[in-house]
Amino acid sequence: RNTAEKFEFQAEVSRLMDIIINSLYSNKDIFLRELISNASDALDKIRFLSLTDKEILGEGDNTKLEIQIKLDKEKRILSIRDRGIGMTKEDLIKNLGTIAKSGTSAFVEKMQTSGDLNLIGQFGVGFYSVYLVADYVEVISKHNEDKQYVWESKADGAFAISEDTWNEPLGRGTEIRLHLRDEAGEYLEESKLKELVKRYSEFINFPIYIWASKEVDVEVPADEDESSEEEESSESSSSEEETGDEDEEKKPKTKTIKETTYEWELLNDVKAIWLRNPKEVTDEEYTKFYHSLAKDFSDEKPFSWSHFTAEGDVEFKAVLFVPPKAPQDLYESYYNANKSNLKLYVRRVFISDEFDELLPKYLNFLKGLVDSDTLPLNVSREMLQQHSSLKTIKKKLIRKALDMIRRIADEDPDEFNDKDKKADVDKSTDNDEKRGQFAKFWNEFGKSIKLGIIEDATNRNRLAKLLRFESTKSDGKLTSLDQYISRMKSGQKDIFYLTGTNKEQLEKSPFLERLKKKNYEVIFFTDPVDEYLMQYLMDYEDKKFQNVSKEGLKLGKDSKDKELKESFKELTKWWKSSLASENVDDVKISNRLDNTPCVVVTSKYGWSANMERIMQSQTL
Ligand code: ADP
Ligand code: MG
Repeated sequence: RNTAEKFEFQAEVSRLMDIIINSLYSNKDIFLRELISNASDALDKIRFLSLTDKEILGEGDNTKLEIQIKLDKEKRILSIRDRGIGMTKEDLIKNLGTIAKSGTSAFVEKMQTSGDLNLIGQFGVGFYSVYLVADYVEVISKHNEDKQYVWESKADGAFAISEDTWNEPLGRGTEIRLHLRDEAGEYLEESKLKELVKRYSEFINFPIYIWASKEVDVEVPADEDESSEEEESSESSSSEEETGDEDEEKKPKTKTIKETTYEWELLNDVKAIWLRNPKEVTDEEYTKFYHSLAKDFSDEKPFSWSHFTAEGDVEFKAVLFVPPKAPQDLYESYYNANKSNLKLYVRRVFISDEFDELLPKYLNFLKGLVDSDTLPLNVSREMLQQHSSLKTIKKKLIRKALDMIRRIADEDPDEFNDKDKKADVDKSTDNDEKRGQFAKFWNEFGKSIKLGIIEDATNRNRLAKLLRFESTKSDGKLTSLDQYISRMKSGQKDIFYLTGTNKEQLEKSPFLERLKKKNYEVIFFTDPVDEYLMQYLMDYEDKKFQNVSKEGLKLGKDSKDKELKESFKELTKWWKSSLASENVDDVKISNRLDNTPCVVVTSKYGWSANMERIMQSQTL
């Protein structure tokens, strides 16, 4: 069309499209899930706006918040249409081509190494997956505040936009028309599309219809010769029970033929999973719900989930998940990112997935949703964000989240290696499936638990229970504070630990000599964050933490202590005076050593050597 305006794709987007077009990725099905997800997002947006402005939905068909799929076998067109918010001309230009999302280059990079397109939705570029199956795509869109436009592209680096003067008016919303490639013929089969919707879009909260063909029997007047045949057969079959019914013969002669008609067939059940009774939802359903919620279609099972209803002053339902993997950038942007991964609904209406008030930062790795009946529906997001109920919701969510994480450990047989603890635990068959799960969880999200101990004073003890580490007695495995305490020697008051860069280095430390010889257990903390952690974690179950490289280590009373101190008084005095005071604070007789003649220890409130190292590496 010569009235069309031409645009070039932003460079990264263009590269992404090239990769998709030339991809050998075999699971091309994913495009449908992405389009339906976009349609659902657009419907969520218009529904949200309609809460404060009823007029916005319009009337008639425009009020139907639904998704429609239609096939044109002859023209080889598959179209997906929604009555969502739609896109203005400017939206089309920006959203579909000229403004690259922050995830674009990250995804391009990932594609080049793994070739796995499955996670495209997580990177915010799902739309472009249409080019897995189509070589030409039209996006027709009508937003309340603009005319109807057509966006079109053959993925050749450019797209065009025209005011739509030839298609039927949409009223409002978006229709995506895929002109399917030769090899993508399977997407013209209704049965294929139905299967895909069932498989991938089960948890979409808007009805999804397909324009489905149906074979129906219709009675039509029979031709002369054919009717005689029919009569014969009907006679022979009824002859056995000769009724002599005259009426039948007087009926007009007709025959039945098959005819194809079309009607909208509903493909999903829109009852939200979180409204169902948890007892009636299967593990498989939760897993699938997680995949769709997190746009994580990696086939991995979440570590755990929690589905509950909170009652009282603030009522809400929630489903929380511990994902199977931490995203790569979870801790990179930790202090800047303030976004929780929970979706907030108010009375079934999606409000936002960018509410930072629902969970504390350290739990941002969780996925899930909250649906509240208490929050008001007809206020702006900003007002909601400040609503007093949010504090209560947050408190309950944290409690449930920590219980859920604790359960991973409680159900893991590898965590019961203490003879007195958990001896009575039910060794049922599925325990094997849970074996080793907590260590895996720790590997992915342990740092979040540590950050929690630092940030969340209220739940510090609960979080400390989840802490795992190696020690001089853990035998290469992870152990917990409870297990440490159960192994403490009689008379031992403190929990001993040592910090450093790795276990091998710590094992050789002279600070350990005496403790080892006397059979005390010492915890190894080797993560840089551990230094900070131990500034917040002062005690656990009435036991103090003692850094064994610091001043003040007491290993029980030794009667010779005083004697030794006296007899070496002159030496320590001389030693201290011959060293400059900015180098050492004091020189003392120690009982922590065995073979090594002397060590330099840190003063009680000073930075440990490891902390010095961390601070140095940070300022460099
Ligand atoms: P994401 O959905 O993660 O934002 P996509 O690549 O799937 O990324 O979509 C890009 C953008 O295009 C969306 O954010 C949205 O603004 C717009 N868009 C796509 N499909 C629709 C639609 N059916 N209705 C309205 N806007 C849409
Ligand atoms: Mg999308």
